[in-house]
Amino acid sequence: MLNRKFVSIIPAVAVLVIASCAVSSFDPNTGEVRANAPSSALVSQGGKQFDQMKREKKISTNPTYNAQVQRVANRLKSVIDIPNAKWEFVVFEDSTPNAFALPGGKVGVHTGLFQITQDDAGLAAVLGHEISHVVLNHSQQRINQATGVAVGTLLLDTILSAKGADKTTRAATATGVAAAGTMGMILPYSRKAELQSDQLGTLYMARAGYDPAEAIQLWKRFSAWRIKQGESESPEFLRTHPLDQSRVAALQEFLPTAQREYKPR
Ligand SMILES: [Zn+2]
Repeated sequence: MLNRKFVSIIPAVAVLVIASCAVSSFDPNTGEVRANAPSSALVSQGGKQFDQMKREKKISTNPTYNAQVQRVANRLKSVIDIPNAKWEFVVFEDSTPNAFALPGGKVGVHTGLFQITQDDAGLAAVLGHEISHVVLNHSQQRINQATGVAVGTLLLDTILSAKGADKTTRAATATGVAAAGTMGMILPYSRKAELQSDQLGTLYMARAGYDPAEAIQLWKRFSAWRIKQGESESPEFLRTHPLDQSRVAALQEFLPTAQREYKPR
């Protein structure tokens, strides 16, 4: 439904937005994070997507899984600061091993993940990693990289309106932008983003009182599980999180830094 007028302004908007989104940085030695807070459009998109999942997917009532998630969530929340977070942790009935975190602090865990995480530390490793993507605002980067169009609905709308686009065009644009937001949440992150999240996630884990060495064991279990399943059966989580030797080696190299912050509770 996008007309020519809209298509012709995309490159201009893309350049503008990419230039205005500084890449987040993370200093692995100090644990210092420098990232722009996600846009309110992205936070709102995350919340909407999570609500939709809660309506469409079966929510697990398994008391063991739910208790474990809340236990680990409480510890992680005490050491992770997301501006304006509306934290929510939900266990979904789904046999694929997966977990995700959306802007705004919405976290989903599949029941199929527990066979791999096994204990609190293993779960903390996965959740710490996923939440680190949110803290470092990787979704925004991913959307920018993947589509060249930002979720800056307001910005687009302002430009369109300045260019004299009619109401229909502006509505179609808003829909397109929402679709881009959804796409941004299922596409893989860059290798650099994965490495940053591995490191920051491990620091969070250590600060929350979980031995960061358990993160390495967790990723090894994930890798072994994938080999057993066969490559073609890779679920979304493993397609977006390639588990190669270099990734585990990089985490191993970072371990002494994380261990320094480990305070057993
Ligand atoms: Zn990741």
